[in-house]
Amino acid sequence: MAIGHFVGRIALVTGAGSGIGRATCAALSREGASIVAADRDEKNAKLTIQSLKDNAKNISVEVDVKDSSSVQRMFEEVKKHFQKPPSVIVNSAGITRDSFLLKMEESHFDDVINVNLKGTFLVIQTAAKALIDANMSDGASIVNIASIVGVHGNIGQANYSSSKAGVEALTKTAAKELSKFGIRCNAVVPGFIESPMTESVPEKVKLMVQAQIMLGRFGKPEEVAEVISFLASNRSSYINGASIEVTGGCRL
Ligand code: NAP
Repeated sequence: MAIGHFVGRIALVTGAGSGIGRATCAALSREGASIVAADRDEKNAKLTIQSLKDNAKNISVEVDVKDSSSVQRMFEEVKKHFQKPPSVIVNSAGITRDSFLLKMEESHFDDVINVNLKGTFLVIQTAAKALIDANMSDGASIVNIASIVGVHGNIGQANYSSSKAGVEALTKTAAKELSKFGIRCNAVVPGFIESPMTESVPEKVKLMVQAQIMLGRFGKPEEVAEVISFLASNRSSYINGASIEVTGGCRL
């Protein structure tokens, strides 16, 4: 039988088909949560679910987080399946569209803001409404994924770094507005993590980045997932509106 910090709780993870989202599903599932693995590619979300133990209580759903009706449908599906909304929400869906600022296409700026920032907003808003309507908001926890490049900026990432700075500000505002309903909202701020998102970074750039990391290596998705799991659980019951860096010590 499952034991752990999330027994009896439903955890919805966006971007669950890959990287940090997939590792987060594994961490929350180990601690007893029922998992809703949500991704724009449902095949990948299904693969995540298949990789978990104790699978009868988990589901995968397709979602495009930048589309409010798609987000709405996702929460309706969860309600239909579990008869209640999720009380753990992890916003891990994200994209990059890198290029130098002088060459960046307007559509690439919009795409990144829409998925990373607006998508996080839509999921927070829909989740909070569903929890408040169901009288289940007390003790709920929302965890967003920002980025260290949102703190310092990064060459080639005018769109991405702005979106992630926005995610931190959104997290603080959500914490201020939703605390009165018993909902906490926090952010993790990863540095450079091995995942499909960073696979295409040229080796030369990777070595330069690594030299700026005190631990001298990229992080693993599991190392971020552990912190997300802590923030999602009641173990962090007095942490709210906070951003926690998971960077291996970044000198950027
Ligand atoms: P990843 O492996 O690329 O995973 C992101 C997932 O989100 C993918 O499955 C992706 O699907 C999905 N997704 C993209 N757009 C979506 C949409 N509109 N609706 C729903 N799902 C969507 O990247 P990761 O490294 O795990 O990143 C997870 C989060 O951590 C992101 O927010 C990222 O910005 C953040 N982060 C990552 C790093 C890092 O170094 N890896 C550092 C700091 C912050 P597709 O594969 O189909 O695009």
